[in-house]
Amino acid sequence: MRYRRIVAKFGTSLLTAGSDRLDLEAMSRLVGQVVRLRREGCAVVIVSSGAQAAGRHRLARHLPARTGISRQAFASIGQSHLMQSWDELFDWHDTVVAQVLLTRRDLSDRLGYLNARNTLRDLIEAGTVPIVNENDAVALDQVLATRIGENDSLSAYVANLIDADLLAILTDVEGLYESDPRTSPGAKLIPRIERIDAAVESLASGAHGPGTGGMVTKLNAARIATQGGVDVVVASGRAPGALVAIASGQELGTHFPAPGDRLESRKRWIISTISRTGHLVVDEGAAAALRGKGRSLLPAGVAAVTGVFDRGEAVEVRDAGGERIAAGLTNYASGEIERIRGLRSDRITGVLGYAYGDEVIHRDNLVML
Ligand code: GLU
Repeated sequence: MRYRRIVAKFGTSLLTAGSDRLDLEAMSRLVGQVVRLRREGCAVVIVSSGAQAAGRHRLARHLPARTGISRQAFASIGQSHLMQSWDELFDWHDTVVAQVLLTRRDLSDRLGYLNARNTLRDLIEAGTVPIVNENDAVALDQVLATRIGENDSLSAYVANLIDADLLAILTDVEGLYESDPRTSPGAKLIPRIERIDAAVESLASGAHGPGTGGMVTKLNAARIATQGGVDVVVASGRAPGALVAIASGQELGTHFPAPGDRLESRKRWIISTISRTGHLVVDEGAAAALRGKGRSLLPAGVAAVTGVFDRGEAVEVRDAGGERIAAGLTNYASGEIERIRGLRSDRITGVLGYAYGDEVIHRDNLVML
């Protein structure tokens, strides 16, 4: 096998084969492939969706009159059924599975990150197949449901967490197309994407697949994982043997190769916790200093602060054109940076009455993107 440490993300539409319930035959084909990979010496962690779909189906069958049920409730009902199905299918191959429910919040806390990392490592060492899902009862916010309750980005965090070399996001579409295949039948599949830039993002924004994750969330996941040094493949999992083919390096779907060296784990952690609630915009001089010389980001170079974040959070640093340059742990909260931006560092104490350091982001806490 080309890859040895694999995170396989299975989307709802794959696990239900497009129906309204878990499709044991489809799941069993995936199980067969995971078992084969493990026999070849690969470690495999599964990120499995399907809890909500399973819960919705169960409830409709047993309590058909119930209405107004939340997605969290569906997920809670379906999660045990989902795990029971995985457990039975793997048991036929004498393979032990383990359930790991995570939230993104758990991983954005350094201790939570380390604990989850240790647990997953133990489970892999013990020879089990960990099966991860988002802990929807805690994580899913009714209002923000589509933003945080999705497993594509979770699978990328998990891939970084276990130092995977491959993240295979398996769904029911073949990959990323040059145009939407549903509306333009001749649309061409893009086999390889070296860099996820604005042009690639605009291709994805129109193409929403089923489940909560369309191509936008898959690209986001690909960005997070490749930044951590993990190769990513987005492909259809319906074809028999697709996962094994991808793991052995065959070209299937859309491949996102990770650039250069694997990042050390602290940097992976920074990337995996990037705040979605705000970012920094820097002027040209600071952009050049960051890009060319690996310097710290000083208040003088900050042109604008967008959104709200706390001291200690990982935030993105972008140039005036919106290109992402870097991400790093900020020494100051957004409100503080608003007051000191554009100033020389020796004026920080005069303005705030205190200082946490000369830098907004110290270079040791900075990762280039
Ligand atoms: N956690 C959800 C479920 O198990 C899936 C979210 C997703 O598909 O991205 O149903």
